[in-house]
Amino acid sequence: MFVKQYRCMRCAAVYEPDDARMVCDTCGDDGILDIEFDYPAIKQVLTKASLAENRDSSIWRYLPLLPVKGTYIERALHVGMTPYYRAQNLETMFNQKRLSLKDDSVNPTASLKDRASIIAVMKAMECNHKVIACASTGNAATSLAGHAARMGLKAKIFVPKRAPKGKLAQLLAYGADLYRVDGDYKAAYRLSKQAIDHYGWYNRNAAINPHMVEGKKTVALEIAEQSHWQVPDWVVLSVGDGCTIGGVYKGFSDLLTLGFIDKMPRLLGVQSSGCDPFYQAWKNDAPLTETNEDTLADSIAVGIPRNADKGLRAVKDSRGAFITVDDESIMSAALLLARNEGVFAEPAAAAALAGYIKASTMKLIPPDSQVAIIISGNGLKDTDAVVRHIQTPELYSVDFNRFKQRSNKKEEKHE
Ligand SMILES: *Cc1c(COP(=O)(O)O)cnc(C)c1O
Ligand SMILES: [Zn+2]
Repeated sequence: MFVKQYRCMRCAAVYEPDDARMVCDTCGDDGILDIEFDYPAIKQVLTKASLAENRDSSIWRYLPLLPVKGTYIERALHVGMTPYYRAQNLETMFNQKRLSLKDDSVNPTASLKDRASIIAVMKAMECNHKVIACASTGNAATSLAGHAARMGLKAKIFVPKRAPKGKLAQLLAYGADLYRVDGDYKAAYRLSKQAIDHYGWYNRNAAINPHMVEGKKTVALEIAEQSHWQVPDWVVLSVGDGCTIGGVYKGFSDLLTLGFIDKMPRLLGVQSSGCDPFYQAWKNDAPLTETNEDTLADSIAVGIPRNADKGLRAVKDSRGAFITVDDESIMSAALLLARNEGVFAEPAAAAALAGYIKASTMKLIPPDSQVAIIISGNGLKDTDAVVRHIQTPELYSVDFNRFKQRSNKKEEKHE
């Protein structure tokens, strides 16, 4: 492993590499750690040329940049190297020079969370833990449940009452121990923390566990490699806890340090107007404060983000921005994406497209820039949200003559 040290985001205290370490001794849970690597040594084994020859089409092609030994990777589900599509129909529609979609909805459990969960499970195994736990709005839970099942660990999952049926079904199918908490995500998180502290389970909570951001950074590594190291001007993604955007920033920083890319893309963090603590803190240049969790984009309904420091740093240091979108524009974006590019996104993922549309209308993102939008989760996880938004199809009789009459009328209407 090429991990050099862990550094506290608050007080800059430095700690020796230690698999079991989670947060800063002095700052407690506010002292989120950032993992620092030995980049000169990594340069000896990881080059653009070595990557071009590497046939591994998963996140493990970047193993030197990851904080795991890699002992168990042969057994793991396939995570990463998801498609990077040029979205030509949307490009035309919004008059954008270049618009690409990073489709993370096709990961093994159908969200970007697989990039973190696989690292959590590996780390737990390297530390000889048999039980791994997390609180989640849904996708982290589902993802952890899937990877734990595959690798033979027990998963303990805390979800808020409102987690969509699709996600509950998925994580129950994977056989996790599910604790559906009578409350919101904040409540589920609080209970999980108490249980984890009490029982000593391995903690996959994305903010507390510094290894999670390192897993999520692989999405940025892939965007860079898939754009032939000519990174986009803007990368757009939705933000809940702030771990994903922190990871995206970290991935591009690593590549800048290694000299693989020559600029940091500007990061546009998209939040729902019903739950926008990052947006408020960024706009008012104030510390982050708690907000309601009032949005149908359940994956980003995070009233108290647990990775505030990394999330805010990502946007500030990349000269990016936060933006908010309402539920109506999120669902319109979901349909626009499906109908024009054939990619079906869950609401939290569609929020990224809605944010791009708003930013392009506001001229925050100019037409001559190159943009990548991260599609972080699959639309099949929350079909109710879509069904509520569109007309349910009428029922046809099996009689072909009547079918012709009705379908002719329908054609006329469409012309
Ligand atoms: C978790 C999640 C996000 C947000 O990631 P954070 O690390 O919580 O900021 C966005 N979209 C989807 C689909 C997610 O599951
Ligand atoms: Zn500290």
